[in-house]
Amino acid sequence: MQTRADKLIFSGKTTAFVPTMGSLHAGHLSLLRIGKLKADDLVLSIFVNPAQFGPNEDLISYPRSLERDLELAEKEGVDTVFVPTDGALYPHGYQTYVELEKLPHHLCGLSRPVFFRGVTTVVTQLFHIVKPHVAIFGEKDFQQLAIIRQMVQDLKFDIEIVGGPIIRDADGLAMSSRNAYLQDHMRPAALSLSRALENSRKMVRNGIYDTQEIIGGATEILSEFSTITIDYISICDPVTLDGVASVEGRTLMAIAVALEKIRLIDNTILQP
Ligand code: AMP
Repeated sequence: MQTRADKLIFSGKTTAFVPTMGSLHAGHLSLLRIGKLKADDLVLSIFVNPAQFGPNEDLISYPRSLERDLELAEKEGVDTVFVPTDGALYPHGYQTYVELEKLPHHLCGLSRPVFFRGVTTVVTQLFHIVKPHVAIFGEKDFQQLAIIRQMVQDLKFDIEIVGGPIIRDADGLAMSSRNAYLQDHMRPAALSLSRALENSRKMVRNGIYDTQEIIGGATEILSEFSTITIDYISICDPVTLDGVASVEGRTLMAIAVALEKIRLIDNTILQP
């Protein structure tokens, strides 16, 4: 991968990069399409990164479908699929981690303490290997995108970071590889996240800006389902992720729940 990246740079070509954990769906493909337009060469990585899973999380059962992923990548015109082994990225004796001081101590970072450290560490490694000019991340993982932007700025990576919009199923469910765990009977509960966000946007359209009131409305919708345990509902500044008392400018609303142990996240922008 590194030799190939060097050759491309030497021949004056630019590279767009989409890092993923595989089990590709239309959300991933939308990022590949953005990448295709952004540079001469398109690299997709598929790596289920052990460093971002906590001890009681789903590293072992995380959905994997490499053969199908490779077919989809080919159809999308991906030039290189990079599939490193665990041992290549974390060889015996590995001991270097990249960690941000503030942004990980919000939202998902509170219940997943090693998650973002794992993400920033693997993305740093991948950036050094793939040497892209532009990298595309989904707004589905809004906090992750904010953290990558901050890391790239702080550590002077010469890489343009592009965010891609959340791709949803026709009924509104944000696409996710983990949706493969959802059984049919769980669908209405899973849909309550996008419904709660839609309802919140409606409240803001109707002139309700008080954060507690909006969160109250969302809590009511999610609480219709006894199978849902709310991790957080946050209305916050989209850059610092600090909570706000009222929706004034462009504001992030993010939700995370466990639905029968399946972690689901979704978010939207609220704007008066
Ligand atoms: P993952 O394979 O879950 O690590 O995701 C790889 C990339 O795809 C990340 O940048 C995600 O934010 C992005 N992504 C995942 N789901 C979606 C979606 N529904 N819409 C847009 N991007 C997504």
